[in-house]
Amino acid sequence: MPTNQDIVKKTEAFGAMNYLPLPVALTRGEGVWVWDVEGNRYMDMLSAYSALSHGHCHPRIIAALKAQADAITLTSRAFHNDQLCELYERIARLTGLPRVLPMNTGAEAVETAIKAVRKWGYDVKGVAPERAEIIACSGNFHGRTVTILAMSTDADYRRGFGPFGPGFRVVPYGEIEALEQAITPDTVAFLVEPIQGEAGIRVPPAGYLQQAARLCRERNVLLVTDEVQTGFGRTGKMFCAEHEGVTPDVVIMGKALGGGVLPVSAIAGTDEVMRVFTPGIHGSTFGGNPLAAAVGVTALDVLVDEKLADRARDEGDYLMQRLQQMGSPHVKEIRGKGLLVGIDLKPESGHARPFCERLMAEGILAKETHDSVIRLAPPLVITREDLDWAIERVARVLS
Ligand SMILES: *Cc1c(COP(=O)(O)O)cnc(C)c1O
Repeated sequence: MPTNQDIVKKTEAFGAMNYLPLPVALTRGEGVWVWDVEGNRYMDMLSAYSALSHGHCHPRIIAALKAQADAITLTSRAFHNDQLCELYERIARLTGLPRVLPMNTGAEAVETAIKAVRKWGYDVKGVAPERAEIIACSGNFHGRTVTILAMSTDADYRRGFGPFGPGFRVVPYGEIEALEQAITPDTVAFLVEPIQGEAGIRVPPAGYLQQAARLCRERNVLLVTDEVQTGFGRTGKMFCAEHEGVTPDVVIMGKALGGGVLPVSAIAGTDEVMRVFTPGIHGSTFGGNPLAAAVGVTALDVLVDEKLADRARDEGDYLMQRLQQMGSPHVKEIRGKGLLVGIDLKPESGHARPFCERLMAEGILAKETHDSVIRLAPPLVITREDLDWAIERVARVLS
């Protein structure tokens, strides 16, 4: 039997080194638990950045995967399949937006949203050709494609990958006046994460999204929310924007839509925006394939049937409260919503990485984000008993 070190060595021998994983090689998962090749058990407190909100190998989702795999897996969009319309219907109902376009990864869905709002700008708003501008936020994370990196403010993500195209303007996250001043007649959209996950679980001031929505409406600018990480119950509502009663013009979703099994992403939007797509101008070979659609349908049904958004709210409130009560000398701030929680460490306590390594030794897999923040984002199916088990260990590491 190979050891964790064997797997790490072989991986590093043949793979590009674009990640620095914790030195653990997983081989099995069930619910909130995973096992490494040496038989050690850990609680997964990262959930693949929210893609595992249903937990590992959810029985209903795996059953749907297997059943669909035996029926038909891929048709291309040159033909209809009998699963995609079911996914459309559910996404439309959950988002309150009438039309849906499926892709695979989150970044592809973001690219699709960029195309949608630019074309809306030219076709509907009347922006002069090639002049459309999208406003994004400092600290944003929308994916890794070159187009998307053009709006990133993270030097590590960008360095060496230019040149980047024009068409983006960046404003400070959470500052409504800055957004107001940045809007020009060429602005077609404001693209925003309701909570910035990768930037360290940054929660904007209350009312920010609602004010942004009002401003966008007044100035004929589309509001696009990137809910790839915050969507599907993670923050205690089906979509994080619902905390402020906001329905955007376009919502971008991914990660948990794939039920922890497959890459499934989509955008949903208003009729006015989605009508810009006509046959042949945009597509994806695998986007909307029946296997992905069947998995997505079941992932959404599980979310509703198991009330995972309510669970995220209740268990998230409990987790935040217990973390606050710890009064750890290392902690500067605890922040988040639902089961998307960041523990921001004091500068003098050093990087978050060694804390994550100590959590691993305690049987908890978590990942640092942006040096000083430990992200705690377990699968939404976590029980109170399992959460207590984790809190006890987090307390030991933070004491
Ligand atoms: C993960 C993420 C993406 C990109 O998704 P991929 O599937 O990795 O391409 C986009 N936006 C946000 C907010 C994300 O968290």
